[in-house]
Amino acid sequence: MGFSTEVLLSPSSLPAEFFCPICHDVISPLDAVQTPCGHMACGPCLSQSLRMVGPECPSDRTPLTEAELKSVREHNPLVYRIMGRAQVKCENAEGGCEWRGELSELAIHLAGCPQAMVRCKDCGAKVPREQMDVHHFQCNRQCEDCLEKDIELAEYRQELVRVRAALRNAKGEIEDLRAQLNRINRAGSPSPTIPSPSGRGFVQSEQRSYPTIQTEAVARQRSVSNGMTLVSGMTSAKGHVRRSSAPDGRTAGGGVGSRARVYPLQHLPPMSRNELRAGLGLEPIDSNDDNDFDR
Ligand SMILES: [Zn+2]
Ligand SMILES: [Zn+2]
Ligand SMILES: [Zn+2]
Ligand SMILES: [Zn+2]
Repeated sequence: MGFSTEVLLSPSSLPAEFFCPICHDVISPLDAVQTPCGHMACGPCLSQSLRMVGPECPSDRTPLTEAELKSVREHNPLVYRIMGRAQVKCENAEGGCEWRGELSELAIHLAGCPQAMVRCKDCGAKVPREQMDVHHFQCNRQCEDCLEKDIELAEYRQELVRVRAALRNAKGEIEDLRAQLNRINRAGSPSPTIPSPSGRGFVQSEQRSYPTIQTEAVARQRSVSNGMTLVSGMTSAKGHVRRSSAPDGRTAGGGVGSRARVYPLQHLPPMSRNELRAGLGLEPIDSNDDNDFDR
């Protein structure tokens, strides 16, 4: 707890008594304490030794108590002055400080040494005192960067909330469509009325608009898989006219708007979500991910 022996310009010129027997540093004159048995140590080191090691002098094991310790500065001014005259350099000489002086002045110099490492109160980094202004500028600018990132993140979060809400709406519309299809399937109506996916009112199948065409495509896919054959050409999910062949080899006619159709809807069981998606021209989804957009 004293000063490193490296501060001494000529270590051999300092009496061995001026080195702390506990930490082995050069005793700081201001902190120096002496014992009745004639030994010196750093005050904090000796107090700790009495508490931790036992009530004895660390140099010769003479019984010793805290109350017997005396400040060298107050009770031995001559020794205090001799200690203080030791020639030293700054502890931060390696860092570039060229200060040299007496041991008695070292503590005062270190309190303002431009090369002394001091802790930034904002980020906790240790920086040479003379560079603290520059560091502070950079340190605060980093904080502004963090602030910008926080704002960006908040905007992304808001966007995420919007996208999730839109997905929930889309899911609700799909559910409505499925319920509508199920009702149609049960009723066996050949001319269904389907709400549009955008939710803008109802669209008559006679208008051959998008959702109705897709419904026909679903019906076609399902009827084929049920072993039924449609007699007319059907419209694909993308609205292109397809021609299919009847089992007897003749090519079926018709297309968009054709009346010569068979809708075997009354034979269809309720649709699964992926069947509905296929009808809407969407990729099938894994059933585990079914409710992803609810999270
Ligand atoms: Zn010490
Ligand atoms: Zn002693
Ligand atoms: Zn210095
Ligand atoms: Zn900082």
